[in-house]
Amino acid sequence: MRKLLYMTIFSTIFLSSCGGGFSDSEREIIGNSGEGIMPLWTVDIPEEEELLRLKAEPLTASMIGTSEFNVLCERMLATVNDPDNEGVGIAAPQVGLSRRLVAVQRFDKEGEPFEFFVNPEIVEFSEEREYGSEGCLSVPDMSGDVLRSTSIRLRYNSPVDFSVVEEVVEGFTAVIFQHEIDHLNGVLYIDYL
Ligand SMILES: [Zn+2]
Repeated sequence: MRKLLYMTIFSTIFLSSCGGGFSDSEREIIGNSGEGIMPLWTVDIPEEEELLRLKAEPLTASMIGTSEFNVLCERMLATVNDPDNEGVGIAAPQVGLSRRLVAVQRFDKEGEPFEFFVNPEIVEFSEEREYGSEGCLSVPDMSGDVLRSTSIRLRYNSPVDFSVVEEVVEGFTAVIFQHEIDHLNGVLYIDYL
């Protein structure tokens, strides 16, 4: 009986530390379906900038497809599509969740859809770089020219089955990926100005 109890405690700790789902405080931020636009975390507020400057944690396979994950994607999409404050990409830390999840508008695809990328990383940057104007939903009322690679090789986990996917992305969409993945490492475009 005692042995069983220990095993239960051990497996509970094990699950919550590495298999687990979202924490209670993360679930509170994610909220419920239909709640729509999430509050944006900005550098204007010191406690929010502190979170924006963290290296975000990976999502685990067991988070994919949960109702929390689906609600988070739904609400991040509503946030980046806010007609009063539209963006072309958004990273989870910008809505207060220090997790490695981004949505990017695919200007390189028919219909320019937003797509989600789990644990994305850039494994190759082109040597060719160009300056382009950038702004950020977390840095209100500012813009500036940033030098970025014109082409990248991206690696991420599929938001459907967590399988590892690689693809080459070019042009403005590649710039958006560089900006959003910087967010996951606590880097903001103003750091380059
Ligand atoms: Zn940004």
